[in-house]
Amino acid sequence: MVKDIKDLMKKFSDEAACREYLVQQRWNGEPICPYCGHRKSYRIEGGKRFKCANQTCYKKYSVTVGTIFEASNIPLTTWFPAVYIATAHKKGISSVQLGKDLGVTQKTAWFMLHRIREGLKENNPLLLEKEVQVDEAYIGGREQFKHKDKRKDTSGKGEKVPVVGMIETGGQVVTQVMPWVTRKNVTALFDTHMHRQAVLVTDSNPVYYKPGRRYDHKIINHAEGQFKVDQFHTNSIENYWSLLKRGIIGIYHQISPKHLQAYCNEFSFRFNRRKLHDGFRFALAIQQIEGRLTYKHLVYGKGEENQQGQDIEAIETGE
Ligand SMILES: [Zn+2]
Repeated sequence: MVKDIKDLMKKFSDEAACREYLVQQRWNGEPICPYCGHRKSYRIEGGKRFKCANQTCYKKYSVTVGTIFEASNIPLTTWFPAVYIATAHKKGISSVQLGKDLGVTQKTAWFMLHRIREGLKENNPLLLEKEVQVDEAYIGGREQFKHKDKRKDTSGKGEKVPVVGMIETGGQVVTQVMPWVTRKNVTALFDTHMHRQAVLVTDSNPVYYKPGRRYDHKIINHAEGQFKVDQFHTNSIENYWSLLKRGIIGIYHQISPKHLQAYCNEFSFRFNRRKLHDGFRFALAIQQIEGRLTYKHLVYGKGEENQQGQDIEAIETGE
């Protein structure tokens, strides 16, 4: 496990070291052909790539095939610190700052963060138990960050987007961007993420009444000055919203609605692993990023970089 960024730079100072780490993380040290699944291969090109030993396949491949690192001109020695920084900094990092730190353009850093973020999605839906606090927040929109005099929203991009958050008291968080916070959408979210024996804690928003009927539902009536019912409260989810909003306002400044879920995933990835060492979180990120890669490869294939490089709508102004 890497100790810190200095240690990371030392251990992964060349492409070969990065590739070997990926071989370990991805295949447990034994390459599996991404084209036919065959488990025997030959190292070729001085160990840089592999050739499938299956006589009907014989395809050549590298360890980055099907990963977020594929078809990218950016060396792994740049990708690795980017993943480390993006998962270690509590509130995230802007593309402007990351570009400066790594000596790449803001556009390149933006593209890298976008791919990393995609990779940080939970591979399996989290199931929350015991005591689950649920609340909604309205996030994003460009207008909220401007001075009042300059605020005029004719673009339709200034609208805030609702996000519903669920947090197990003292535990993990799930955040879901919802075009509309309806009973139907909330029920679907509960069905996926809430254990049937869990105690549900919300404020008095009526949208939670019906979906809450299937749980032991504690309602905290804030309008009547209530902040606790027995030991139950919604402080944890409210604290999470301030962390998320401070991060978005302080680091990213503006996020277009279509990218909001990806930013939410980035924040929850870090939050749900907050008790781990930075080096361990990095290792998990690399592993997890790998887990989704084949799918991404199939969906986007090559050329993704160019398409996304041009899609600069969500450009962060950075600090
Ligand atoms: Zn093969």
